[in-house]
Amino acid sequence: MALLKVEGLKMYYGTSEGEVRAVDGIDFEVGEGEILGIVGESGCGKSSLASTLLKLLPSNGRIADGKVLLDGEDLIPMSDSEIRRKVRWTKVSLVPQGAMNALNPVFRVGDQIAEAITVHTDVSNSDAKARTAELLKLVGVDPTRGRHFPHEFSGGMKQRAMIAMALALSPKLVIADEPTTALDVIVQAGIIRLLMSIRNEFKTSFILISHDLALVAQMSDKTAIMYAGKFVEYGDSTAIYGTPLHPYTIGMIGAFADIRKPKEKLVSIPGSPPKLIDPPPSCRFNPRCPYAADICRTKEPPLEEAMPGHYVACHFWKEIKERTGTGT
Ligand code: SF4
Repeated sequence: MALLKVEGLKMYYGTSEGEVRAVDGIDFEVGEGEILGIVGESGCGKSSLASTLLKLLPSNGRIADGKVLLDGEDLIPMSDSEIRRKVRWTKVSLVPQGAMNALNPVFRVGDQIAEAITVHTDVSNSDAKARTAELLKLVGVDPTRGRHFPHEFSGGMKQRAMIAMALALSPKLVIADEPTTALDVIVQAGIIRLLMSIRNEFKTSFILISHDLALVAQMSDKTAIMYAGKFVEYGDSTAIYGTPLHPYTIGMIGAFADIRKPKEKLVSIPGSPPKLIDPPPSCRFNPRCPYAADICRTKEPPLEEAMPGHYVACHFWKEIKERTGTGT
């Protein structure tokens, strides 16, 4: 059984103009020790999906449908207090976007991690301090630095501290929202190595949310490409990156340099994502798609299994497969 199974998840925001369908029918699974990367442009619904999984919604957000099964138990019908007691931190933790700025500037970093432990468990203060030192060491920060304040930490160290906090109660699943954004490439590589080593050592599962397809392809077992509130392609990372079948994925790969290939011109995807208030029944990518035909403007393509474990939502994935010579 998968550790996490998400079925038909929908989350909408109420606005004065109507409901914004930020997450609009998402299905996926994450196994134990598996890393799922979710990639897409800003505003495609990635962070909304992360918040929905833990029911951390703003007052105008509502879960319209679907299930979030963690170890077979559905989190959606749970009350907020039940989720706080039984799930958040202990089973699933979140490293939110901009996490390194989430540390409170007036408290010592170690005290903030220790507090996360004492608030959620019955351990004594001295045990929480010992666990904090262990966690800082685990994420590659000298435990004596726990006495320091956030402004005395570099960006990479703050991110490591936030990862330590997320791991404080040994959750089975960590959702990391843009964990390397705003860090330079050397520090990014260190954070990626850290997450991989945590996965390898503790069999922790990760959902890694990013706009950076190259980063996700490098560290995820499975990749989902999200566009306008939906997954448009989903499967093993090697298949998604090596044999993409959705025009949006193909466009994204064209927009990223592959350092293993000869120098080539990068092509960006023209246009911008659609508004998600009452979207019409069509392929949401059609205004930007070079392959768009009449059917794309009137019928929404289903997510189909194009190859074993490789799903794509495009009316023309077979033709694209033939034309591009991708897939086997
Ligand atoms: Fe492009 Fe049509 Fe496929 Fe949508 S369904 S991605 S518009 S070809």
